Amino acid sequence: MLLDIHTHHLPEQPETALWSCCMKNQNQPEFSQARWISAGIHPWFLTIRDLPMQLAWLESLLSTDSRVAAIGEAGLDKLCSTPFETQIQAFKAVIGLSERYRLPLIVHAVKCFNELIALKRETEPSQAWIIHGFRGKKELAHSLLQQGFYLSVGEKFNPETVKAIPEEFLLAETDESRKDIRTLVRQMADIREEPYDMLLARLFLNAGRLFNN
Ligand SMILES: [Zn+2]
Repeated sequence: MLLDIHTHHLPEQPETALWSCCMKNQNQPEFSQARWISAGIHPWFLTIRDLPMQLAWLESLLSTDSRVAAIGEAGLDKLCSTPFETQIQAFKAVIGLSERYRLPLIVHAVKCFNELIALKRETEPSQAWIIHGFRGKKELAHSLLQQGFYLSVGEKFNPETVKAIPEEFLLAETDESRKDIRTLVRQMADIREEPYDMLLARLFLNAGRLFNN
């Protein structure tokens, strides 16, 4: 059922998309229209003062709304103005929720892959961690795959990398783009020199296993 594992816009068939939100999105119409939700604390929209409030909002959503199929996006971003310490504090709290509620974690990561790998080793999560919007080179993809990360790619993907990711760790997303997810899957299939239908089926399978359990 699920194909687009990270979007901020709902497609015509909402059941095919995991709509990503944080506290500031709670009054948007998409919040009630979404079939599947991933809820998190985005490092861009975070201060040390509102962290407790955001965590309380997230926990109450997790305990009351069965549409929540993942936690995120949440993570670390070295290019944003939020102090890195605050980002780490929020991210660790979110990791705790992902473990407690047994939901996979959708990770936003910008220029902090060493820190991210270190945190995964330190926390030894039982839940899957998915790096969303992955645009890195295949060498970085390889190190992340070795640590058990899943990689989700959007329209700005690195072709060499998309070719190299093993199919069982690959996911697709539209994020902020209004592009049809199937158009993206077609491009990915071309790059991977793989039949479109087979890749599509594989992506449905991967997303279903991770999020529709
Ligand atoms: Zn996003």
